[in-house]
Amino acid sequence: MRLRKIKNAREKLETFKNIVLFNPEELKGNWKTFFGKDNPIHLEIGMGKGKFILEHARKYPDINFLGLEISESVVLQAARKIAANRPKNLFLLQTDANNLTEIFGFGEVDKIYLNFSDPWPKSRHEKRRLTSEGFLDVYREILTKTGEIEFKTDNRQLFEYSLISFNNHQLKFLKVNLNLHENKDEDIITTEYEDKFKEKGNLIYYIKVVK
Ligand code: SAH
Repeated sequence: MRLRKIKNAREKLETFKNIVLFNPEELKGNWKTFFGKDNPIHLEIGMGKGKFILEHARKYPDINFLGLEISESVVLQAARKIAANRPKNLFLLQTDANNLTEIFGFGEVDKIYLNFSDPWPKSRHEKRRLTSEGFLDVYREILTKTGEIEFKTDNRQLFEYSLISFNNHQLKFLKVNLNLHENKDEDIITTEYEDKFKEKGNLIYYIKVVK
């Protein structure tokens, strides 16, 4: 699923200054002060169009949420969705996950969500996978002592790769589910991709790990 590029996305994005933080590196080490409350900070990396993080922010007003996404066009769509009724505990960052250590200091994030991350199946692209060794090193650095990572995907290969990667990194497995939507009564906040893949009958794999 490739998204068409929106013309002048950057300019359009700049009209959402109250939602999108354009210089997040200036807040490094001061995220708690920025939010003005000592509430936990949850970060979604590769947020897409923002359904998951927006629903979380509405449901959990005592948690502060940050949605990070590299594509300007996609962040613009998320910002438009959020603008109508923005929860105060949610901001978006338009940047590459490779910049995480410039944005967050040691132990500033309580939880990281990775949902339907790009699989990058070719081994020469392994470093781009958001669950590869290099990224896990960074997550370990920016997460608190008891920081967690939750990961969902319908891509079996990426899931298997990620299990090994988490394990090699000595992250503790708290929960693993090989068919997240098996129990239909469970109230699970889904993402845009998840809805699409669920509809197609794909299994959704899930894991939660802790430092
Ligand atoms: N989480 C959303 C979107 C999944 S698609 C959902 O489940 O619906 C993966 C998303 O990750 C895309 O929007 C892509 O632009 C973003 N992405 C890929 N690599 C990234 C990176 N290095 N930094 C930030 N976002 C990235």
